[in-house]
Amino acid sequence: MAKVIVVGGGAAGLVAAWRAASLGHSVLLLEANGRLGVKLRISGGGKCNITHDGLPKDLLAAFPKDQARFLRPALFALDSAAVVALLRREGVDTYVRDNGRIFPLDRPGSAVAVVAAFESLVRRTGVEIRTGARVTALRGRTPRIESLELEGERLTADVYVLATGGASYPETGTRGEVLGWLAELGVPARSWFPALAPIPLQQPRPAWEGVSLREGELRLGAGPGGRRLDGFTGDLVFTKAGISGPAALELSQATERARREGAAWLSYATVPGPPEAADVSLQSEQRSNPRLLAATWLQRHLPERLVGPLIQEAGLASDLRLKELPRAGRRVLVDLVTALPLGAPQAVSLARGEVAAGGVALPAVDPHTMALRGWDNLRICGELLDIDGPVGGYNLQAAFSTGYAAGSL
Ligand SMILES: Cc1cc2nc3c(=O)[nH]c(=O)nc-3n(C[C@H](O)[C@H](O)[C@H](O)COP(=O)(O)OP(=O)(O)OC[C@H]3O[C@@H](n4cnc5c(N)ncnc54)[C@H](O)[C@@H]3O)c2cc1C
Repeated sequence: MAKVIVVGGGAAGLVAAWRAASLGHSVLLLEANGRLGVKLRISGGGKCNITHDGLPKDLLAAFPKDQARFLRPALFALDSAAVVALLRREGVDTYVRDNGRIFPLDRPGSAVAVVAAFESLVRRTGVEIRTGARVTALRGRTPRIESLELEGERLTADVYVLATGGASYPETGTRGEVLGWLAELGVPARSWFPALAPIPLQQPRPAWEGVSLREGELRLGAGPGGRRLDGFTGDLVFTKAGISGPAALELSQATERARREGAAWLSYATVPGPPEAADVSLQSEQRSNPRLLAATWLQRHLPERLVGPLIQEAGLASDLRLKELPRAGRRVLVDLVTALPLGAPQAVSLARGEVAAGGVALPAVDPHTMALRGWDNLRICGELLDIDGPVGGYNLQAAFSTGYAAGSL
């Protein structure tokens, strides 16, 4: 029986502590906050999109390839069905939404019920829990961690499991400092980087706050009319400072990377395909429906609230009919529906991301045990690893699965 210290009482740490204790080890769980699972409590807007429906191979397909390869053994050991079953045993029933996302059954504060379930699980298995316990240093050198420090206290164990999360939403306890300590110990790591965050724009449209663009593609290019760098099909919503919604969150990491490299430009296509095809369809509409207002045509593809201002900005008359539309005007309309310009982004905030990209480099970690290679008694799990999945329950599942592997001592 080993003495295990788990640092971090979030999704990964709770599962790691429960798993190690259920295998008979003596486990101490240290959490900086006054209570467990603070980020879990705000996940999914307080409803907690706990995981995603599907076989492990389907879930893995949602992650970047290197992350999927790494996650494979852990996800097979604890898949989404196992998480659902675990919660059901603890009295938390779940349901699957049409898009595959799994939530606890709808009732106010369902994320709180998830945390309570995990808390009861760790308590019942005999884990000693200390909240308000922020670790301030790790002592040791390869191949062993000797101790860790809390304010005015030094603790030792046979095995240390680090589950301190990422670096976004620092108010939830995740300040990301542990990655710096690990780097000082020679552990390979990629610096924290913003991901799944809203994108502020250099020229935001506060008047459009709350308006959504639906079922189109947010495109990232290298400057206006420049080479296409990336794209994501999904909804987008205007905010005071820029854009948010699924497409913005998913494209935020690539956008920030392109911005730092000096060329990032965003546009949204509500009509798929090349502009030439949209032009052909507009010309056929001109012939079949010449009295149709240009604004009405635009309204078929863009929200009503945007149409007036866009027609005005383009210098077209609000009562212009399709038959009066000159070639240049046609081009304007086609551009608006195939590449509505959103413009250059401002810096994407690390703090406002649903995850932080970056973390301990995956090749440095054994994917079966989460043990850090070259170290005898150090395991890493959860968002502290260089894993960032898409929105949809994938990140919590990755935290649960890697926590389970880390606790399987
Ligand atoms: C607003 C928001 C909504 C989200 N919604 C979802 C969702 O619906 N579905 C989904 O799959 N993912 C969601 N995520 C992402 C998901 O919450 C995280 O990926 C997941 O919580 C990571 O788990 P973790 O255990 O690695 O880290 P965390 O859950 O962040 O836990 C880490 C814990 O370590 C503690 N800690 C840190 N440093 C120290 C230290 N030095 N000493 C002691 N303790 C320390 C922290 O206080 C924290 O409690 C959301 C994230 C955010 C911010």
